[in-house]
Amino acid sequence: MEFGTKLIHFGHDYDKETGALGVPIYQTSTFHQHEVEKGQEYDYARSGNPTRKALEDAIALLEVGTHGFAFASGMAAIASALSVFSSGDHVLICEEVYGGTFRMATKFFPRFDVEISFINVGELDDVAQAIRPNTKAVFLETPSNPLLKITDLRAVIALAKQKNLIVLVDNTFMSPYLQRPLSLGADIVLHSATKFIGGHSDVVGGLCVVKDPDLAKRIYFIQNGFGAVLGPQDCFLMLRGLKTLKVRMDAQQKGAQEIAQWLQSRSDIPAVFYPGLVGHPLRDTHLSQADGAGAVFSFRCASKERALKFLHSVRLAAAAVSLGGVETIASYPVKMSHAAIPPLERARLGITDDLIRISVGLEDPADLLEDFANALK
Ligand SMILES: *Cc1c(COP(=O)(O)O)cnc(C)c1O
Repeated sequence: MEFGTKLIHFGHDYDKETGALGVPIYQTSTFHQHEVEKGQEYDYARSGNPTRKALEDAIALLEVGTHGFAFASGMAAIASALSVFSSGDHVLICEEVYGGTFRMATKFFPRFDVEISFINVGELDDVAQAIRPNTKAVFLETPSNPLLKITDLRAVIALAKQKNLIVLVDNTFMSPYLQRPLSLGADIVLHSATKFIGGHSDVVGGLCVVKDPDLAKRIYFIQNGFGAVLGPQDCFLMLRGLKTLKVRMDAQQKGAQEIAQWLQSRSDIPAVFYPGLVGHPLRDTHLSQADGAGAVFSFRCASKERALKFLHSVRLAAAAVSLGGVETIASYPVKMSHAAIPPLERARLGITDDLIRISVGLEDPADLLEDFANALK
């Protein structure tokens, strides 16, 4: 079955009772047990809920895994997945990781003696050097945020597998439509479903997919035990958003390509970062592991003043955090997603105060171009 068909049918039958096409919202905390001694699939909604199950099965199918898990946010999914590690374990994380993941990795997990090292995954030798006898996993995110740097997934996964490391990939920027890390050998895929999967800037949630039964047991233990589960209404919104993932991503990606190229052609824009642009350093690597460049890019606009003026005068893009919605969003990493990173470290990573990140929505690109041109005047 092709991806678009999977999005619509995702292995879910019409409702058995009524024939309803939509997945019913099972707004219940508990379930009558027909035969108390026997037990049954659903008994308490933290442990399992049929609406959540439909979403979990759908994401497992789309990410070519076997088990899906829905959490209350992307961070709940990431923190729960990292909770399979124990005190004394060592985990490698790519240095350009999402700010919330960085915060948990530096301020939360160390309190439980899970050691974390940040690595430059672009240098395979550095990754190899960082692996110790107690290293259990490597956590990747590609393209990176906000500079859209690419990690060669196959190369890092091959190295990790030699050392029996678990490979986790935050696939939020690409969505399963464009990139399926489990098919490249990764073990755990994570999503902030708040972004492209929900797709409408109206719900917060997280997803996790694995393909190994033992890992599935370990993640389920955390999901049920820690309990950061996604509620049935929000699961419904995710399922609803998911159906249009392909058409949204196709259109938003087309818009992103057009606007990124237009910015690149302007002599007053010093740099545009987008893996869809000829000249992006690892474009070929990206296109060998993903089916498109996505709908997020960033650019430098030459000065902090110009960046702020752009954010204040642009009309069709919200000046906001987040991405992946049908509305275009312009964010200012220095003050938003990456504000918590110390200025010197930010400068080292290239996150300058003239940098703007754009998540292209479903507006007509011609209108966005006109609006951006005015805001850059
Ligand atoms: C937004 C985001 C997260 C966190 O997800 P929430 O749903 O906000 O908790 C994690 N990773 C990436 C790449 C993100 O963009």
